[in-house]
Amino acid sequence: MSDSNWQPSTLAAQGLGWIDDATKAVSPPIHMSSTHLRDPDNQYRNGRDYIRDDNPSFDQAEALLAKLENGKKALLLSSGMAAATAVFLALRPGDHVIAARNMYWSLRRWLSTYATAWGLQVEFVDMTDLDAFRALIRPGQTKLVWIETPSNPLWTITDIAAVAEIAHKAGAKVTADSTVATPVLSQPLTLGADIVMHSATKYLNGHSDICAGALVTNNIDNAFWQGVAGNRGTLGGIIGSFEAWLLLRGMRSLFPRVERACASAQKLAEGLRRHRWVESVLYPGLSDFPGHALAAKQMKGGFSGMLSIRVKGGEGGAIRTAAAVEIWKRATSLGGTESLIEHRASIEGEGSPVPMDLLRLSVGLENAEDLLADLSNALETAHRN
Ligand code: PLP
Repeated sequence: MSDSNWQPSTLAAQGLGWIDDATKAVSPPIHMSSTHLRDPDNQYRNGRDYIRDDNPSFDQAEALLAKLENGKKALLLSSGMAAATAVFLALRPGDHVIAARNMYWSLRRWLSTYATAWGLQVEFVDMTDLDAFRALIRPGQTKLVWIETPSNPLWTITDIAAVAEIAHKAGAKVTADSTVATPVLSQPLTLGADIVMHSATKYLNGHSDICAGALVTNNIDNAFWQGVAGNRGTLGGIIGSFEAWLLLRGMRSLFPRVERACASAQKLAEGLRRHRWVESVLYPGLSDFPGHALAAKQMKGGFSGMLSIRVKGGEGGAIRTAAAVEIWKRATSLGGTESLIEHRASIEGEGSPVPMDLLRLSVGLENAEDLLADLSNALETAHRN
């Protein structure tokens, strides 16, 4: 699309408006070749050689995501975990890292096991407590600060701009996992983050049918980013051509999907907090949620399609509620068109900060009244005996 001033939702709906030169197709071709022809004089003027370094099937999804995040360059990877670990493995053994205590559990576990054994010095902190964060930072030694906002599954909100200011003064880079916010609601790079990470398995794709990750930056001319980008090629965590194509197709409907999920999640949060079997609702869109004011400042257009409820009757009450739903699907993951319900603590296991009575809800595209009625009925059924 020639005019880059069109609204992001317009750019997304048309996948940046690219038309295939050869066929005039409005949907891109899928390039399956793993290798590209070299010039007779031994050059690679085409700019492409081998699929692990570069794949034309990534181009449009990467360009669109970079645009939506206000970044210069996006990289697709094989999963959110491949994206996150590509960042950490660009550090050196001995480097100090500060990570949010409330974060995606599998990455938290990787940091406290593999990454620590590999030599990173990892400290976890409550990122909503800026004083506690400031106290941990070691100027010159802390190389990376990892935040996730809203954080899964307690939805705590981190002040991206404040964390970036403190980190940058100490010489550290900031990576923000923005999987839940999506570029529809928040642009961490604009607020000062150096890298944005997504599990593109979730909202970016939006149909629960691929595994993908993404990294975006607005500063490619530095050794750290080059190390991260190099890790994609050398560790080999690339996604397939078809998955990249599906991801672009999913991103075309990102805006209406996220907007609808946000509106439904807000209705559900307000409805469920009045339910007699719900102890509390965790949702940044509720005015008495601890991070609400900050979320309203740094997120635009909604508070995400994710919320959690704490169910009366403890773990048993929560598990019986999840067992009694009809529309909601009992499954892990999030950000698809179908609504998912999950007893989270039993997935995360020992050391998880998630309460046993918590159910995580990923709100899909179904009718919000149906979703509320189904969950209300399930809560009643679970507490009948
Ligand atoms: N970050 C968040 C917030 C997630 O919810 C997940 C997965 O659930 C990940 C990262 C990891 O992504 P993936 O499963 O694509 O590796």
